Amino acid sequence: MIVTRFAPSPTGLLHVGHAMSALFAYEHAVEAGGTFLLRIEDIDPVRCKEEFVQAIFEDLHWLGLHWPEPVRRQSEHMNDYKDALDQLKARGLVYPCYCTRREVEAEVARSGHAPHLDDGTLPYPGTCRALTPAQRREKEIEREPVWRLDVTKAMASVPESLTWHDRGAGTVRVDPALVGDVVLARKDVPTSYHLSVVVDDALQGVSLITRGEDLLQATHIHRLLQALLDLPTPEYHHHKLMMGPDGRRYAKRDLSATLRSFRNHMSRMDFINLLKKNNCAAYSLPEETR
Ligand code: GLU
Ligand code: ZN
Repeated sequence: MIVTRFAPSPTGLLHVGHAMSALFAYEHAVEAGGTFLLRIEDIDPVRCKEEFVQAIFEDLHWLGLHWPEPVRRQSEHMNDYKDALDQLKARGLVYPCYCTRREVEAEVARSGHAPHLDDGTLPYPGTCRALTPAQRREKEIEREPVWRLDVTKAMASVPESLTWHDRGAGTVRVDPALVGDVVLARKDVPTSYHLSVVVDDALQGVSLITRGEDLLQATHIHRLLQALLDLPTPEYHHHKLMMGPDGRRYAKRDLSATLRSFRNHMSRMDFINLLKKNNCAAYSLPEETR
């Protein structure tokens, strides 16, 4: 059975791009007689707000979507992510990193490489990967570390050619070096997007992960984590992002593009027709929301 999900972070109001993405996941489940799940990705206690969780429920109900209750909230399952991190620690596949953001930036600038990550940065240069136990003890006095995945070591411990099947991009060969040694946990947030999303998708039996193509790079890390943690590999469908009138993608800062503001001045039908008109033919919307 196909299980899809929409997994927003309640750090702001949903915008039209989210609406499109939620409908996309919903449609893929409904069409296949499967299940659509909603998951609240609220691992960051500072940026996530309960009012935005409630707004997500309201907006998605207005869109005509249904999902089984209870909705999983990541903040209630920190132990699941800790277990996964502990497994990686026990196998020496993560290491503590003591660099400040500024130190990472300076190191990256010295390397002279052009930024190539989706967020306009470069992968972590690996400064702390080879610290000795004594050096670690010394640094520990001043600073709590973050935990980074040792991508090179991790790749050496999984079957050689890892791939995933993507309904958008076809068969993709995993190359996590593209993304580098990502942070899997920090002191204030003892997990990360990468770790919790992989653990949850497996625990919830998500079989088709649909999300924007801005997360395609992250999937290289997610597929690697699945192999390391012995979790099943879902199918993926990274969809095109919806662009605003200025040709840029919608972001949470575009207040006029929130679903709530559309809700206030048009009917659901009109809104959905607007999405259809403005967007690629890749979307045929589910029968019941038409
Ligand atoms: N929580 C992530 C976000 O709001 C999306 C997670 C995912 O679809 O993998 O961007
Ligand atoms: Zn470091």
